[in-house]
Amino acid sequence: MGDTQLYDILGVDKTVTSEQLKSVYRKLAKKYHPDKNPEHGEKFKEMTFAYEILSDPDKREDYDRYGLEGIQEGRGGGAGMDPFGDMFGGMFGSIFGGRRRGPRKSPDISYPLKVTLEDLYNGKTAKLKLTKDVICSPCGATGSKSRKSGICQSCQGRGVKVTLRQLGPGMVQQMQSACPACQGQGEVIPEGDKCPSCKGAKTTKQAKVMEVHINKGMVDGQKIPLHGEADQQPGLEPGDLIVILRLVEHSVFTRKQSDLYCTQNIGLTEALCGFEFVVNHLDDRSLLLSVPPGKVIQPDMQKTVEGEGMPLQRNPFAKGDLIIRFNVTFPSDGFAGEDQLKMLELLLPKRPPRTAITDDHEEVEMHCYSASAQAGHHGEMDEDDEMRGHGHGTNMQCAHQ
Ligand SMILES: [Zn+2]
Ligand SMILES: [Zn+2]
Repeated sequence: MGDTQLYDILGVDKTVTSEQLKSVYRKLAKKYHPDKNPEHGEKFKEMTFAYEILSDPDKREDYDRYGLEGIQEGRGGGAGMDPFGDMFGGMFGSIFGGRRRGPRKSPDISYPLKVTLEDLYNGKTAKLKLTKDVICSPCGATGSKSRKSGICQSCQGRGVKVTLRQLGPGMVQQMQSACPACQGQGEVIPEGDKCPSCKGAKTTKQAKVMEVHINKGMVDGQKIPLHGEADQQPGLEPGDLIVILRLVEHSVFTRKQSDLYCTQNIGLTEALCGFEFVVNHLDDRSLLLSVPPGKVIQPDMQKTVEGEGMPLQRNPFAKGDLIIRFNVTFPSDGFAGEDQLKMLELLLPKRPPRTAITDDHEEVEMHCYSASAQAGHHGEMDEDDEMRGHGHGTNMQCAHQ
């Protein structure tokens, strides 16, 4: 598409960077600002309009690709009024050659859909039950029994009222607002002629069940558009219903891109002597995994099971990895007697050589650490309090370890 009008208005090339664009606009805005240059008010509006679109990367991309109509469609059309018409008093239409040609659409509607990790792993067809506005068929979307609508006398069917406001000497602002007599519809249906089915609204509510296909490997936040399933409005093409996937947290697995993460709790005996364990997967398969005797699992060690992660969206036969973190629980106090501990020590790796103890060493006591008790010590307590404060409220912490 070779539409360069907006670039031309600002006198820049299509390759202009956003930095350059900003400085060009600043210079022009200074020169043409209506405060200094009332006769250039239209020029200033044009420039501002062009700059607003070109300075927004998304809108600029749309414009480069589809021209102005591409952007206007993207705006969704608000309440069915021309969004730029409202803003610029119809000025834009006159500059750029009349109404746009593409079909206008009713606004898109987004619908958050809760999904489980199982749904994203296995794929699923979800059924959505919702109520939407549909064109009233008994009256053919005219809202009237006789299918004749009366043109609103107040606005001559335009739906808008134009008022002029004097801003200052030589400056008149043109204001447009929806016609209050017809609520901007441009027509009035006499009370007795209103369609009994839609009461003159032209649309009725309809409950509809829709199917959404959740493909294997889809992700949290992914948007699935259902084309033309938004509310129907007379004279507009229906917009899209956009389903947005919202992943519910899983009790076992966490997903990071195509990989799955889980934690396996084990005891010290398993960590030292080998063990087998089962992971129940998202498709109900039970994976049997084993650590042979002689292989030691360190606390927080992670192991990877290749190809047992999430399916890839573009190729559901390929999968990411499953990463298992081992949480090792040590035995608690008093798990063995003194004699048993001596036997145990024979099996465990040798201790490092002991430091020789002399009279110069000062013996002090250790207590269990508690972050909250510790925080209290940094207050304005005097030293005696601080000393006595030690050791209380910390037994809970000890029991855990
Ligand atoms: Zn009217
Ligand atoms: Zn009707």
